[in-house]
Amino acid sequence: MIVIPKWFAGFSLCFLLACDAEVSQPEFVEEPGEPVDLSSYFITPTLCSDSEGPTCASLRLGDTHLTTTSPAQGKLFACVAGNAGAPGSDPARITWIDWAAGTWNLLAKPFLPAGSFSPQSGSVSVSEIGGIRSITVNNLPVDGKIGDWPMTQYAMLSAIDRNPGVPAATNVTFNIPISPVVSVTPSCTSLGAIGVTLNGVVLYNAVDARGNDAVAHEIVDEFGGHPAMSAYHYHYLPERLDSAPMSDGHSGLVGYIRDGFGLYGYDGEGGVELTNADLDECHGHDHSPLGYHYHATIEYPYTIGCYRGDPESAFFSSASAFEDKVSNIPQEVKTEPARAFLRGMIAHHQQALDMVALVRRSTYGRDIREIAVRMQIAQAEEIKLMQSWLNGDVILDGDVEAVSGDQDRLMPGMLSEERMAKLRAAQGEDFDRLFLQSMIEHHEGAIEMVRVFLERFGSLGDTIVLDWFLDHIKAEQGIEVARMSRILARLQ
Ligand SMILES: [Zn+2]
Ligand SMILES: [Zn+2]
Repeated sequence: MIVIPKWFAGFSLCFLLACDAEVSQPEFVEEPGEPVDLSSYFITPTLCSDSEGPTCASLRLGDTHLTTTSPAQGKLFACVAGNAGAPGSDPARITWIDWAAGTWNLLAKPFLPAGSFSPQSGSVSVSEIGGIRSITVNNLPVDGKIGDWPMTQYAMLSAIDRNPGVPAATNVTFNIPISPVVSVTPSCTSLGAIGVTLNGVVLYNAVDARGNDAVAHEIVDEFGGHPAMSAYHYHYLPERLDSAPMSDGHSGLVGYIRDGFGLYGYDGEGGVELTNADLDECHGHDHSPLGYHYHATIEYPYTIGCYRGDPESAFFSSASAFEDKVSNIPQEVKTEPARAFLRGMIAHHQQALDMVALVRRSTYGRDIREIAVRMQIAQAEEIKLMQSWLNGDVILDGDVEAVSGDQDRLMPGMLSEERMAKLRAAQGEDFDRLFLQSMIEHHEGAIEMVRVFLERFGSLGDTIVLDWFLDHIKAEQGIEVARMSRILARLQ
């Protein structure tokens, strides 16, 4: 059963019911009793032809190895479990997974072949300024190796996996720390981008939108990627990218993960192919001269199991970097649930700005003024961005009602008129304390709104930027909550 929070009340019926999972019949129907011969689409990676590393014919199926509670070796520590209703491949037509044994056979899985599809060429540029490594890619492979998309040209393949996407260029910038630090606690990975490869293509974690093992379930091209609409991405490391080992045989650097640590290829020290057993719960290890780094394996979770460093510290390193990243990419949020969510979030942010506006005349604390300035910039930027995605759509009466109506209908963390009045009347340290308490609650409310929305719908839309935006809100507000809690502790 789905629990609908009260603040969702008033949104359209489609928001409450499962209107998002469009189910339609594949066009390809095999003759009754005639087995489908997929063998012309099989590939044999070099990784699978030696005795080192995991056995490609019976790889562990990752479906039951996702955890949302705590990181563990061989598992994917994910922030959300996925949405069972999301589009994906048809399990009834998958012949290469042994469901009973919980394994899958990479050598008996079809891959979309190369063909005439040729999008524009890939690009990648890396610059280093002030402790930040800025990597800009257009999300197409620099080596030009990509399958013959769209897959709908291959009836046997699209019968299994309906993915109609066609990869296209999208500029994306990753701002990551040059000297990342190992965190006390590892962080969960979200759906969508977890890093970027040096050949210009974004990396996703091991799972599809349903939370299943994407490498086992989804059909990718023989070069290792597939599109989510137009956003091409890898869920594992294409073997050809692991082609420049270091002098002792250890794989070379193939990309960067969002927390700033490097991703290396399949081989560890001495050139020996690695398995999960050689790596920690985040899928990395620490040895000289590299320090902490991640490795790819040909078994789930393929790239990383969690973030060892802080994935958010520098990703959107400043409001301006964030703006740069999105300003050139026009977006429109299309689905009604996502639009309703944005309208609600704008109203929510607007109240934060109202609270911040009280700071100038009320507070004596310098810490609070600094918080206020930062919040004003960040929240105003985000409001501008969300408004542009709504493309002229205005806040509806229903949304405003949800903001100003009775307590029950307030969105999480929003202040009632009564509490707002109290804040307005407070002075000095009383104001500071009340402001921090209210603002912490307000921010936690926004995080809760994001959590509930993500759990239900996965993302705001099909593009990488929309995919990232909710992560960004969650991360930024989480950092502010921690900051405000420290100041509040000093005041009490
Ligand atoms: Zn995917
Ligand atoms: Zn290593």
